[in-house]
Amino acid sequence: MSISENLINIQSKIQNAEKKSGRPQGSVKLMAVSKFHPTEEILQTYESGQLLYGENRVQEACEKFTPLLASHSDICLHLIGQLQSNKVKKTVTVASCIQSVDRIELLYEIEKQCSKLQKQIQVLFEVHTGEESKSGFTQESELRRCLELCVNGEFPHIIANGFMTMAPFTQDESLIRKSFSTLRNLSEKFKKDYKELPLKELSMGMSGDFEIAIEEGSTLVRVGTAIFGARDYSK
Ligand SMILES: *Cc1c(COP(=O)(O)O)cnc(C)c1O
Repeated sequence: MSISENLINIQSKIQNAEKKSGRPQGSVKLMAVSKFHPTEEILQTYESGQLLYGENRVQEACEKFTPLLASHSDICLHLIGQLQSNKVKKTVTVASCIQSVDRIELLYEIEKQCSKLQKQIQVLFEVHTGEESKSGFTQESELRRCLELCVNGEFPHIIANGFMTMAPFTQDESLIRKSFSTLRNLSEKFKKDYKELPLKELSMGMSGDFEIAIEEGSTLVRVGTAIFGARDYSK
């Protein structure tokens, strides 16, 4: 199967999952996770109409997407991997959203760097919902403190757009579902408590579990392998 065939295949699976769960057509966005894949493969998906991409390493994201964004102004890149504070400066030059905000200090650094560039950026708060994943907020109170700071106008260059999670890597569908519903419930609670914030995005679901994620309320699925094939980590 070619990359463009894979893309069409995923899009129709997303549509079916939307239907199955009674969600409006087009309510779920597809992100192509292009980490470890070269620019020419990214361009193949772009030719098929794909505009939203995800990368998880800052260096690689900049190398591939600084030129891509310069020549294709409709492309959008989100950072989805764990982020060190000293890499925020580079990240905000290429990303329109950082999906992996997992601690308060990161917000201060993002605000600092974005205010220098006079650029607004979206963030998602990554929440730890499954036993095996290592990243994401584990304390609801700490996440609540972030949202308080956002509501109080501490970060004028940051748009608190929602939440992200990774389900545990397991064959047990009930555990995967539980991880996604945990995030949805948390998101619903925070939306009530912080009506002033957008908090509209629920980024959950990857190649192996995006249909379950859609049934559980995902608004954005992050799909790599099922579009581009297996990653070659030796490169
Ligand atoms: C790599 C990655 C994905 C995509 O994973 P696939 O299984 O290849 O679809 C999604 N989300 C995050 C955070 C990732 O790091």
